[in-house]
Amino acid sequence: LLSTGGKCRVAVEPLVPCRRGTTDESAGSFFRRRFGVEAASCIAQPLLGGIHAGDLDRLSASSVFPQLVDLERRGRSVLLGLRRHAARPAAGGAFRSFPSGMTTLTGAMVAQLPPGTVRLGTLITTMTRHGDRWRVRSADGSTHDADLVVVAVPAHVAAEVLPAVSPDVAASCGMIRYVSSAAALLVYRARDIARPLSGSGYVTGPARRPDPVMATSWLTGKWDGRAPHGFTVLRGFFGGDRDEGSASLPDDTLIALAHDSWAHRFGIVGRPVLARTVRWVKGSPQHEVGHLARIREIDARLGALSGVAVAGSGFRAVGIPDVITDARSTARDLLDRWRAR
Ligand SMILES: Cc1cc2nc3c(=O)[nH]c(=O)nc-3n(C[C@H](O)[C@H](O)[C@H](O)COP(=O)(O)OP(=O)(O)OC[C@H]3O[C@@H](n4cnc5c(N)ncnc54)[C@H](O)[C@@H]3O)c2cc1C
Repeated sequence: LLSTGGKCRVAVEPLVPCRRGTTDESAGSFFRRRFGVEAASCIAQPLLGGIHAGDLDRLSASSVFPQLVDLERRGRSVLLGLRRHAARPAAGGAFRSFPSGMTTLTGAMVAQLPPGTVRLGTLITTMTRHGDRWRVRSADGSTHDADLVVVAVPAHVAAEVLPAVSPDVAASCGMIRYVSSAAALLVYRARDIARPLSGSGYVTGPARRPDPVMATSWLTGKWDGRAPHGFTVLRGFFGGDRDEGSASLPDDTLIALAHDSWAHRFGIVGRPVLARTVRWVKGSPQHEVGHLARIREIDARLGALSGVAVAGSGFRAVGIPDVITDARSTARDLLDRWRAR
């Protein structure tokens, strides 16, 4: 992955002086300073591209890897700190999912609540003050009044919902950029794939071999029950901040690009027996340099109004575990402040 020079540069990271000051910097600047140019382009960019669909030089270091920034702020080597805190590999593999997909999680949450509590398929359009409560209006014209509201939609939707609550907050929400991505899922006969598929997938960097597929995983290697015995499912991601145009390519083109890339890489002889595409339009929030300051400002402005907060991946957390933690603490804080008012 890295040249000898690139590895040596990573190895001397403990000798790199710590940055002074607490102003935010890009993830690219942080990585290049600490680990060198090669590690930044061959390791950090592909990994962050895979997780955030983002560009290393736009994402905020404090937002996307706060633990690493914190190690440096405490005057420590990031490399030695990572080694010290390295987690043991989880028993049963690093990946978790549900056999029937992610709606199992939301379905289980709905089932815990009294019937009628959750209204599915209802788009909210605006939110206004109504006496000392909040009024949330839906696209079907219905309204719902509440003492406390957590706005947990994507930030670009919050920008449309919140102008009457706070034009400044709505404007700040609108400045949080999102990028689109798409996936091609191709099912092959396992015997048609000449090279063994070890591990669970790979991410590609722009540095050495241009590859239209940003990240690939073999779902049948990650989880049981994704295909009948003797078949392999490959999933490839397109788009993200560095190549967003490819997320809107026609289905046939995405499928052909994925197949050509994998046929070459894995020595695939046959055609896929099944092919599907999935799209996430404006699905990945970009926590760019200055993001945390913007969120502090949004929180402060909403905190000055009683009973409203924002939550979700556009604001403080990315990834389902962190989004759940953020949602719990946001709801608890809102309730505590309301009770203490
Ligand atoms: C391709 C891809 C792969 C990912 N893989 C992983 C992974 O492997 N592991 C992981 O932890 N995370 C993963 N993530 C990230 C994870 O999905 C998000 O961090 C998480 O879903 C964000 O939760 P959220 O509630 O903030 O936003 P969302 O899950 O986007 O939920 C926002 C909700 O708001 C609703 N909504 C939008 N507009 C309105 C409106 N006007 N009125 C009412 N409702 C509205 C939407 O329908 C949606 O249900 C992935 C993301 C993508 C795009």
